Amino acid sequence: MDERRRIRVTGTVQGVGFRPFVYREAVALGLSGFVCNDAAGVLVEAEGDAVAVAALCTVLAERPPPLARVRGVEASAVPPLGVDGGFRILESDAGGSARVPVSVDVATCADCLREIGDPHDRRYRYPFTNCTNCGPRYTIVIAVPYDRAATTMAGFRMCAECQAEYDDPGDRRFHAQPNSCSACGPRLTYRDPSGAPVTGSGDAVDRAAADLMAGRVVGVKGLGGYHLAALAGDEEAVALLRRRKARDDKPFALMVGDVATAHRICVIGEAAEAALSSIRRPIVLAPRRRPPVPALTAGIAPGLPELGLMLPYTPLHHLLIAAVGAPLVMTSGNLSDDPIAHVDGEAVERLGPLVDGFLCHDRPIHIRCDDSVVRDTGAGVQSVRRSRGFAPEPLALPESWPARRQVLAVGAELKNTVAVAKEGTVVASHHIGDLEHLATYRSFLQATAHLRHLYDVEPEIVVHDLHPEYLSSKFAEDLDLEAWAVQHHHAHIASCLVDNGSCGPVLGIAFDGLGLGPDGTLWGGEWLVADLAGYRRVGHLAPVPMPGGTAAIREPWRMAISWAAAALGGSGAAALGSRLDDRWRAVLSVVERGEGVLRTTSAGRLFDAVAAIARVRTRITYEGQAAIELEALASTAPAGADVPSYPLTSRLVDDMSVLDPVPLIAAIVSDAERGVAPAVIAAAFHESLGTAAAAMAVRLAAANGLTTVALSGGVFQNVILTRVVTRELEAAGLAVLRHHQIPPNDGGISIGQAAIGAGAPRVPSSS
Ligand code: ZN
Ligand code: ZN
Ligand code: FE
Repeated sequence: MDERRRIRVTGTVQGVGFRPFVYREAVALGLSGFVCNDAAGVLVEAEGDAVAVAALCTVLAERPPPLARVRGVEASAVPPLGVDGGFRILESDAGGSARVPVSVDVATCADCLREIGDPHDRRYRYPFTNCTNCGPRYTIVIAVPYDRAATTMAGFRMCAECQAEYDDPGDRRFHAQPNSCSACGPRLTYRDPSGAPVTGSGDAVDRAAADLMAGRVVGVKGLGGYHLAALAGDEEAVALLRRRKARDDKPFALMVGDVATAHRICVIGEAAEAALSSIRRPIVLAPRRRPPVPALTAGIAPGLPELGLMLPYTPLHHLLIAAVGAPLVMTSGNLSDDPIAHVDGEAVERLGPLVDGFLCHDRPIHIRCDDSVVRDTGAGVQSVRRSRGFAPEPLALPESWPARRQVLAVGAELKNTVAVAKEGTVVASHHIGDLEHLATYRSFLQATAHLRHLYDVEPEIVVHDLHPEYLSSKFAEDLDLEAWAVQHHHAHIASCLVDNGSCGPVLGIAFDGLGLGPDGTLWGGEWLVADLAGYRRVGHLAPVPMPGGTAAIREPWRMAISWAAAALGGSGAAALGSRLDDRWRAVLSVVERGEGVLRTTSAGRLFDAVAAIARVRTRITYEGQAAIELEALASTAPAGADVPSYPLTSRLVDDMSVLDPVPLIAAIVSDAERGVAPAVIAAAFHESLGTAAAAMAVRLAAANGLTTVALSGGVFQNVILTRVVTRELEAAGLAVLRHHQIPPNDGGISIGQAAIGAGAPRVPSSS
């Protein structure tokens, strides 16, 4: 019996080879009908034998093409037309109200790579080769529906051969929007620092490679912006790059040619290797081998036991790495903390003084997108920066969460991302950066508008951080929308819940840098009873003054004096301070006066204090440096060494549990004076703080009838601390939720905010 069904497929189904896939399956099943993209996703009508029609539905739901993320397949019966006109692919229809997700940018596939390496193929060494299974997407999309005219490829007219591939449903490049070849597509040029083309022997890749091998710095226009490249094994080249970029210590990422090279440089576990070679191609942070590989210089990641590695993800990268034949430093093309350059004229202006040459091309980048970063925790990989290859892939909200409202969430101040929520999903932007820079704020405005357009979101509410001085909060308050302020650490715990598909309630431990609390102090060492609907603070670290405000972030020795004053009184703090910094007197008097100084419960600032006391670092040049180095040091403590246990006390103040590190600080000051090795102090600090934090969580979970603990906040990027806390909680029979795809740092805040806002009641509650 013949029947006809209309099949609606939703999810990430455009720009991922879905229509040719449907075409091939339908033809193989002997069905007639059509498939098309529309604004809601993919629409199929299939007519023929009832069993075959049902089989097609099953295939669509269960075996979609590799890049597709199918969210729903809904079929309804329609009257059969009874004419067998075969199966056809129809042109896109721009109508309709909903929008469909745009795919992420995908690393070059094996088929394309083979063509690039084949001297007999017409795409031999063509640096912009792509197909339906790979290539640029998010970074080139200007508008939806996703069609060539709505991308930055609009200005390139396909030659007859490319057009034939594009039109052939049996071809791997059928409707591959960025399809092109050397005859019709984007071209490379090598330019001098002023942007003028450089002529000479060989092609642009050869000339760039020659400069790199001569120890020069080259700006490389990639997928989501410019990189600055230098030979990783050349000490002078790396030092030159550091000097020009005004970057003192922050580690550089490396691009290596293949997985085997990565294994020679770092210890790469199974999960790390899977991430490294995935189509998303993030930077993977993994422990470097000891002794270090001679082909790398120490200046790449000074003092750190981990390196960030990535594999080439565009044909251009593959060609360049092959021509150089050695690992390259590939760092974001910016000066210090500016956003990554992605527009050609602007790149020449901003990066010209930093480079000796530019490897450029004429395919515009519409959306700037930094490399993503994941860290090998030994128990899987955890996101550190969710950007290229991950954004803008939708994340499902927990199924039991009544997500009823369209939301715009504007994130926090540092590591900003923005997100929109609609119909049970959250879409977060690429990494935008630190909003204190004007250029980054402009990028924030562009990303916000773009995301709203791509997903056709008409926000009913805008969610922002409780901190009124964040530029993101001010932006939100100025919109003509219902604005919701969400406490920073509630948003962190919510992001961890989304990452684990849970609504809560849980006991959340938020160990973080800083986030404003409703009491006007700066929180960051918090125990919260939380779900997606709300939270209650049930515990925190003891508060101490943060002398100098933001100066205390850049200069950890200030927090050391503050904690020493709490633990040892004025004379003890003076003795310590006089060994740390000349300005200790002024800082100590601010701490002792107490008036008008912000107080903080931040775990991140406690790490700073310990790092300064243990003489690991008294001032930092990048965010989180003291804590990162303290963890690095702890990882070098000899196994089984006599690691002391530092006491912390807990007390109840007006029903609030307070964990007080004062005795721990006193013990560390004394150990540092006695000359105990900093590595041993660092290891003991991690163990003691983690154990005490978990013990308090166990008590608070029991008191509140909870069996699950969620760990979030930037401090939980720390693998050693996470391991100790998890071990203790699991030993007490509690379930532990950790971060996986969403960063525990402020990059995840917008996702937590969006989830909270999506379920907000229509009438704002009085809380
Ligand atoms: Zn491909
Ligand atoms: Zn062509
Ligand atoms: Fe935070």
